[in-house]
Amino acid sequence: MTADEFRKQGYAMIDWIADYWGRVETMPVLSQVKPNDLFNALPATVPEQSEDISAVMQDVEKLILPGITHWQSPNFFAYFPTGASGPSILGDMLSSGLGVQGMLWSTSPACTELEMKMMDWLVHLLGLPEHFLLENEGGGTLQDSASSACLVALLSARERMSNFEINHSGGNEVSLNGKSKKLVAYISTQTHSSLEKAMMISGLGTDNLRKIPVDENYSMRTDDLEKQIAEDKANGFVPFFVCGTVGTTSSNGIDDISTICDIANKENLWMHVDAAMSGTAAVCPEFRDMQKGVEKADSYNFNPHKWLFTNFDCSALFVKNKAGLIKTLSILPEYLKNEATESGAVIDYRDWQIPLGRRFRALKLWFALRHYGVEGLQFHIREHVRIAQKFASWVVASDDFEIVAPHPLNLVCFRHKDGDAVNEALVKKLNDSGEIYLTHTKLNGDYVMRMCVGKADTTEEHVRKAWDLINKL
Ligand code: PLP
Repeated sequence: MTADEFRKQGYAMIDWIADYWGRVETMPVLSQVKPNDLFNALPATVPEQSEDISAVMQDVEKLILPGITHWQSPNFFAYFPTGASGPSILGDMLSSGLGVQGMLWSTSPACTELEMKMMDWLVHLLGLPEHFLLENEGGGTLQDSASSACLVALLSARERMSNFEINHSGGNEVSLNGKSKKLVAYISTQTHSSLEKAMMISGLGTDNLRKIPVDENYSMRTDDLEKQIAEDKANGFVPFFVCGTVGTTSSNGIDDISTICDIANKENLWMHVDAAMSGTAAVCPEFRDMQKGVEKADSYNFNPHKWLFTNFDCSALFVKNKAGLIKTLSILPEYLKNEATESGAVIDYRDWQIPLGRRFRALKLWFALRHYGVEGLQFHIREHVRIAQKFASWVVASDDFEIVAPHPLNLVCFRHKDGDAVNEALVKKLNDSGEIYLTHTKLNGDYVMRMCVGKADTTEEHVRKAWDLINKL
């Protein structure tokens, strides 16, 4: 493709995307296609002859769009949001255009150094502890997902506890007083499944994961955590890791980070804080209390790609001690050796993650942060919380529906009072209507609906219309 042709098609693509945003509300939010519709409609093999991009775009309209669930629709209230914004998309385009693979500082110094600066910016933006700043003992890095971030934290915790032995010998045991003892980790029954998956794939084993019960607010029972640790120690296990959550996926439950950190520090456990979506609320100082005590944690993660108007994928991980993380994940084959790495003066972010290669993710974050500014981000986050609270007040005032969990931020869990079957049928009807999309969870065994507000262009009017539809159906 020549530069001129690229320019022509590129302008057309931007037009297409801008027009798409203009018409997204006319399309069913949840894709209504059947399994294999698209797969069967596409040719079995690569075209022999070159095709025009305009032909591809015709197929985008005809074949791809029907199979899209419109995550960027202002009527998308499902799961947690996956952010996107004009500035972030432009930054992401630039990243594609530059086509940089930033595994080493030397493979594109700007890729590393912009990321370094963005991580420091996020520390200030969220009011995180200063030791997460790169000039101090800790530091931050962009991962693809919260799942990768917790795996990386878990591995670093394992190596810290085993004195970097497991990296060499493998397994899930440490030697204490001449005896081999199994490592055990702690989460709550409400912790995201990515922690369990990290135990699975790290070889630590899900048998060695303890799920601590939660209280009526869906936060981890810290007394039960202490009891379980004591029981495990008495049974010859070695507790080494605990994860506290700021904003659980099912219900936005907030763990008592400070108390869990105190227990972790007393028992020599690595404390990881998963604030995947709700961490973004800390952009507003009035919400920072939710993660009080975070300065005592060993690692902290939140996803700008959820609620910070940054395109997927972009997940920010901070560690208190970067040397430990780097030691856990470093490996330097001959073909990667270079003067800058050997000088010790640079960061090679490949040593902070599982894969070797890495995209220039910091660009899209930089564009988004500069476009919105702190004031713009605070405006939208406060507005989402305000609208969600308004929605909750309508539920409270209704005769038919009830609130089923605390709703401190932008997620409201609620249900129809007539029981599971009615709620399940209602979710199906709502989503089949194409007007809105919301998803369910189970809390205390009950089927409940989740309404999450997180798109920059979702207004109170959208949520009001959703509430009217819920009542009508
Ligand atoms: N942690 C929490 C609390 C989440 O809600 C999610 C996803 O919604 C995750 C972790 C996993 O996120 P990711 O898709 O970035 O791995």
